[in-house]
Amino acid sequence: MAFVFNFYSTFTDFENDLSFYQKNNHCCFRIQSSDTVEKTNKRTKWQIPEDFKYSRCVFVCTHFGEHRYCGKGIKSNTKSSATGCKVFLHLAYDYALRGLVVRKQFLEHNHPTNPDTYVHELRNKRLTPGQRQELKEIVQLQPVNEKLLSLLRNKYGKVLSLKDVRHLKSQCEFHCGLATPSVDT
Ligand SMILES: [Zn+2]
Repeated sequence: MAFVFNFYSTFTDFENDLSFYQKNNHCCFRIQSSDTVEKTNKRTKWQIPEDFKYSRCVFVCTHFGEHRYCGKGIKSNTKSSATGCKVFLHLAYDYALRGLVVRKQFLEHNHPTNPDTYVHELRNKRLTPGQRQELKEIVQLQPVNEKLLSLLRNKYGKVLSLKDVRHLKSQCEFHCGLATPSVDT
């Protein structure tokens, strides 16, 4: 499946197509740069309906870019998955067609994309707010990491490593800590 020159009469149509593509091709995209409709409309008399959300948006593979470290040798979470992948989609509003068009694309990943790599994508590991809340309660019972790992896999279908579990656990403990005012409760 290719996106280029595909026309979308709503942003939701594009989002549906993208999410279908991601699931079927076992890859994830993130927004690299964008201009909102609101911002673009201020600059010109030609107005784009606001529900298009973006007048221009570049989506890149979550492995896009070179592996980088942020300050003090701490591995940056968002950059650590970078493999130098060049996959991108350039979506833009077309004033003549009155809809969104994918102007350019490159869809050849430089890394494996299969069901196994897909469950390991950071985005697919992320817990929903409801799951997080549940987890906080479970963590208070101080389960061993291996038990927590299999619970996350069996209950939520999240394939995490022991390192991920330790990280999640410390996040939960931090939020439950008495000394720290919890922001999200
Ligand atoms: Zn890629």
